[in-house]
Amino acid sequence: MQTENWIEIEHEFYLQTAKRLPVVLERGEGTIVWDSDGKQYLDFVGGIAVTSLGHANPVIVEALTRQAQKLITVSNLYYTVPQLKLAKLLCENSGMDKAFFCNSGAEAVEGLIKLARKWGKEKRDGAYEIIVAEDAFHGRTLATVAASANERYRAPFTPLPEGFVRVPYNDVEAIKAATTGKTVAVLLEPLQGEGGVNIPDDDYLPAVRRWCDEAGILLLLDEVQTGAGRTGKLFCFQHYGIEPDALAVAKALAGGVPIGAFLTKDSAALLGPGEHGTTFGGNALACEVGYSVLKYMIDNDLPAQVTKRGEHLERRLISLADRQPMVTEVRGKGLIWAIELDRPVSEAVVGRCLEEGLLINGVKPTALRFVPPFTVSEEELDRAVDIVERVLGEISEEK
Ligand SMILES: *Cc1c(COP(=O)(O)O)cnc(C)c1O
Repeated sequence: MQTENWIEIEHEFYLQTAKRLPVVLERGEGTIVWDSDGKQYLDFVGGIAVTSLGHANPVIVEALTRQAQKLITVSNLYYTVPQLKLAKLLCENSGMDKAFFCNSGAEAVEGLIKLARKWGKEKRDGAYEIIVAEDAFHGRTLATVAASANERYRAPFTPLPEGFVRVPYNDVEAIKAATTGKTVAVLLEPLQGEGGVNIPDDDYLPAVRRWCDEAGILLLLDEVQTGAGRTGKLFCFQHYGIEPDALAVAKALAGGVPIGAFLTKDSAALLGPGEHGTTFGGNALACEVGYSVLKYMIDNDLPAQVTKRGEHLERRLISLADRQPMVTEVRGKGLIWAIELDRPVSEAVVGRCLEEGLLINGVKPTALRFVPPFTVSEEELDRAVDIVERVLGEISEEK
């Protein structure tokens, strides 16, 4: 069937919540995807920071097919090996004590919120308020939308669950000032993904950790986008010599197979029998893939490769900024980068890049985000930046 037909079918039968680009993607391999006409694209969106090992990676294909033939799911009424292998591997490599699996990032953060509420009831006189940041994104369930900053995601759905207090990001004094007897936790992304790839100062998270200890409240980290290797460490907090009390991880963890998890220290792990649960979470299929992906990352020191490729991408983006005055800032860590533009043209740039064979994300009207797979080659990074440079050159001449 023609591309146009599928687009019509989408308009007729799919809830119109996504602004899609006019292309039907059919197949992928490594950093490349092909559309239904056979046209090839470099994929620097990667399911939005999800496809950590690239498309059709044999590690994932093999784990999926092997486990699908054996057991896809039973129930958390029973023990299954893939879930427990992955829980052990995650805890041993994060410094956390306990894992809980779910199916998405929002669900993982939702778990952190419930963990904090229960902890507050038992340990802090019923305190329940969670301090969150401006420009934060934590998901699309009612509670995670309430924790997120974007008004457009919140306004249509009020009343939202209460108990979230918002402060500027990268400002520990604001957190101190907002802390009261009702505060139970601080919830932060160690770097903000959807908010525009915002990197805090090096001393921000350590200072927040010290404050949480002093105030007797929990530090919860949303590592849904940054976790599982994206920033050049298995978890972003590991750059800063601190540990959270609990964290959420999802996107890159199983390389594209849906999974989410929260990990917690025993001291915060007060959820007991029957107090939290899930049908699909922790299923054998997703966990076997998650285990295989994480084990591959650890055995092959993929975070080190992410750092190396990230440094190459950074150099290329900085030299692009030197030549193209439209680019006013380059920011990122590992393999999550953004360039800030001097005008709100990201949508046009994204459309033009698509024509040129590059999938890239306009994270803000004025910013482009680069989140390629960890397996990306230097040559692919060069090709992608060349395309962006060409497109920015054209657009700067037009306006
Ligand atoms: C993507 C994201 C989420 C939500 O994950 P879903 O799987 O879409 O529910 C939550 N927090 C952060 C930081 C994210 O980047």
